[in-house]
Amino acid sequence: MPSLGRGDHGHRVNVSIDGMYVDVGGEQLWFDVLHATLKHGLTPRVWTDYLRITVGGTLSNAGIGGQVFRHGPQISNVHELDVVTGTGDMITCSPGNNSDLFYGALGGLGQFGVITRARVGLERAPKRVRWVRLAYTDVHQFTADQELLISRGAGFDYVEGQVQLNRTLTEGRRSSSFFSASELARLTELALGTGSAAVYYIEGAMYYGDRSAATVDRKLEALLEELSFVPGLAFVRDASYVQFLDRVGQEEQKLRAAGAWDVPHPWLNLFVPRSRIHDFAAGVFDGVLRGARPAGLILMYPMNRDRWDDRMTTATPDEDVFYAVGLLRSAVAAGDLERLERENEAVLELCDRAGMGCKQYLPHHASQDGWRRHFGAKWDRVAALKATYDPRAILSPGQGIFRAVVAST
Ligand SMILES: Cc1cc2nc3c(=O)[nH]c(=O)nc-3n(C[C@H](O)[C@H](O)[C@H](O)COP(=O)(O)OP(=O)(O)OC[C@H]3O[C@@H](n4cnc5c(N)ncnc54)[C@H](O)[C@@H]3O)c2cc1C
Repeated sequence: MPSLGRGDHGHRVNVSIDGMYVDVGGEQLWFDVLHATLKHGLTPRVWTDYLRITVGGTLSNAGIGGQVFRHGPQISNVHELDVVTGTGDMITCSPGNNSDLFYGALGGLGQFGVITRARVGLERAPKRVRWVRLAYTDVHQFTADQELLISRGAGFDYVEGQVQLNRTLTEGRRSSSFFSASELARLTELALGTGSAAVYYIEGAMYYGDRSAATVDRKLEALLEELSFVPGLAFVRDASYVQFLDRVGQEEQKLRAAGAWDVPHPWLNLFVPRSRIHDFAAGVFDGVLRGARPAGLILMYPMNRDRWDDRMTTATPDEDVFYAVGLLRSAVAAGDLERLERENEAVLELCDRAGMGCKQYLPHHASQDGWRRHFGAKWDRVAALKATYDPRAILSPGQGIFRAVVAST
C-alpha cells in the first residue's frame, strides 16, 4: 500500500472545505490525515486510539474509539470509495452507486477489493481537550455511568474505559503518562482498601476552543456531579487536540526507546452485548484472568448500535448497546505468549459456553465454519460478494475466510 503514495502519485490527502470532506489514499496514515485536515481547521470525527495505521486498514475493519458512541465507527463516516476488485476493475462506489461494493468493502476485511481512496466526512476541529479519568471499584456503577454518558447528546465528546486488574495498578501501555506517582499511590490505596479485584476508569474528553476554558470547566463540573465515581478520584488534564489524539504515539516513542514496542501482542478484541457485560466481567476479570498480572491494558467501553450501518460487513452483537472489550496485552517475558494465548482461548470458550453472543472485532477464526458463525445472517451476502468481486479468492487470503481457487494451466 505505501507505494501508492510515493513518487508521481504525490500527496494523496485532498481537503474540500466547501464539501466538508477529505479524499484520502487508502495507504495514508490517519496521523497524516489529521495534520492535513487541521491546516484547514477541520478534522475527521472518529479516531482509533493509535494513528499510525492506514485508512484502508481501519476501514476494512470498522475503526473504533471513544467518539463512536456519537458518530459511529469510521466506516459510518465515509461518503465514497475507490476500490480495485479481485477481477481487476477500479470501481467508484457510494450509497447511491455500486452500493453493494461500498457497503461490502466497509468492514470487509479486504475480501472484495483494495480500498485505494476514501472520501471521509469532516467537522470543525476543536483546539483543546479537557481529558478526564474517573475511578470506580464497582463494575455496576462503572457501566451505569458509561451508559449514561453515551446516551446523552451533550456531555463528553469521547468516552472510553479501562480495567486495571489485581491491584497492581501498574500503568497500561497506552496510559503511563496520565497519572502522577502520588495519584497512583492514592489509587493503589483505594484498591487495597476495598479489596476490589479490579479498579475501573472511565476516560472522557471534552473538546473546546480557544476562549471557552471557563465554560468547559462549568460544563465538566455539572457533568461530574451526575456520576458515581469514588469521591475525590476524578483526575483532569488539559491537552491540545493533537496531543490528545496522538497519546498512544507518544507512548510508542517511550516504549520503542525502552525496547518494549516490538514484542508479541496477542490481542483479543470482542464486542459484548450489554445484557451480558456483567457475566463477562465476572467470568473474565474475576475468573479467567484472576491472578494474571498483565503487561498492557484492558479497554472496556460501550457503543450505540444505531450509529452502525448493518449493510456494512462488520459483525456486531444484536443489541442496542454493546461493549468493546480489548484485552491488549504484551508478551514481555519467557512463556508469556503461550500463557496469553491460552487465556484468550479460555475467554472465547467462556463466551461460547455461556451463549453470550459476543463477536470478535479484528476477528480471527481457524475454520470457515467459524467465519460462517461470525458473520451470521451476513454470511450469504459475504459469500455472494466474494463470488462477484474476487471469484479466484486472491485478496487478503491471510484472513483464512475463503480458499484460493487454483488456476488450472
Ligand atoms: C497499536 C495499535 C492500536 C490500535 N488501536 C485500534 C483502535 O483503537 N481502534 C481500532 O478500530 N483499531 C485499532 N487497531 C487495529 C487496526 O485498526 C487494524 O490493525 C488495522 O488493520 C490496521 O491497519 P494497517 O494499516 O496496519 O493494516 P495492515 O496490517 O496493513 O492490514 C491489515 C488487513 O487490513 C486489510 N487492508 C489493509 N489495507 C487495506 C486496503 N487498502 N483495502 C482493503 N483492505 C485493506 C487487509 O485485509 C489486511 O490484511 C490498532 C492497531 C495497532 C497496531
